[in-house]
Amino acid sequence: LMRVEHVSKTYQMGEVVVHALQDASFELYEGEFVVILGPSGSGKSTLLNILGGMDSPSKGNVFIQGQEITNYNDRQLTVYRRDKVGFVFQFYNLIANLTARENVELATEICKDALDIDHIMEEVGLGDRKDHFPSQMSGGEQQRVAIARAVAKNPLILLCDEPTGALDFQTGIMTLSLLHKINKQFHKTVVIITHNTPIGEMADRVIKMRSGRIVEIKENIHPLPPERIEW
Ligand code: ATP
Ligand code: MG
Repeated sequence: LMRVEHVSKTYQMGEVVVHALQDASFELYEGEFVVILGPSGSGKSTLLNILGGMDSPSKGNVFIQGQEITNYNDRQLTVYRRDKVGFVFQFYNLIANLTARENVELATEICKDALDIDHIMEEVGLGDRKDHFPSQMSGGEQQRVAIARAVAKNPLILLCDEPTGALDFQTGIMTLSLLHKINKQFHKTVVIITHNTPIGEMADRVIKMRSGRIVEIKENIHPLPPERIEW
């Protein structure tokens, strides 16, 4: 589905050069569940943002379905980010004065291949909370709205940057179970960044990062569903 070839990202801050990402190469296969692990500052978000077209590499190429997104013009990048990529962040980023359903609807209005909103709301377990505003929902529920919003666009890939970072432990596991279900049921490629090492056991592959480099890519022959992981 995607191919990353020798991708590096450096930031120049006055005299200081930060090597946020150095010579990353790997492939993402369709339908895979991939977890990126690594300490703070190791380049995880930088890598995810490059995959999602929110940031461009200083060096190297990124391909999606054989097309080089690193060559896209602004218009093509907009369409890529808007239609092809679903993003889930740590802090849900919902629009406060729109209901759960309206938040999801807004994201799909501009997408060509959007899925049925009510069906997705049911799938994330919010069938009866559709008309609630974010302030009337728990953190876990708000994150489920954010997941529904990302999935309803029917993107090629779902990128999640610490989706459980702001949630308590139990709610975090429920959120991961939902992402796991979406991966299986909708056959969506999912990439999750996390600090929580056991999550790696759910993944088809684990990408470990340290100091801007990919230090290991581990394949799990028998990835565990979240309920079978010893947390
Ligand atoms: P965390 O787990 O804390 O989110 P991370 O692994 O996601 O960390 P990144 O956010 O990718 O790490 O950052 C990697 C390095 O690049 C860090 O040293 C960071 O300070 C630096 N960096 C990231 N974005 C920028 C930027 N826009 N300008 C300057 N430096 C940046
Ligand atoms: Mg980060």
